[in-house]
Amino acid sequence: MKKDSNRRKVIVKRDLCIGCGICVLLAPKTFKLNKEGKVEVISQGKGSEKEIKEAIDNCPVEAISYQEES
Ligand code: SF4
Repeated sequence: MKKDSNRRKVIVKRDLCIGCGICVLLAPKTFKLNKEGKVEVISQGKGSEKEIKEAIDNCPVEAISYQEES
C-alpha cells in the first residue's frame, strides 16, 4: 500500500510535557497549551511538516512524535 504523509499523526505525551510553550510558538496551528498548562494537539495536517519537525526537535522533554497510521 502507498504510504503518504497524511497517514502520519502527531502525538504528544502529556505526562512528560512541562508546559514550556516552545511547540506552541513554533507550530501554533498544531499545538496549544490547555488550562493545566499541558500541550494539546489542536489539528492534524494544518501546520506545515517543517514547523512540526522543529517542535519535535526542540521539545526539551521529547514529548512530541509522529505516529504512523496503518
Ligand atoms: Fe510541552 Fe514539549 Fe511543547 Fe514544551 S515543547 S509545551 S514540553 S510538548
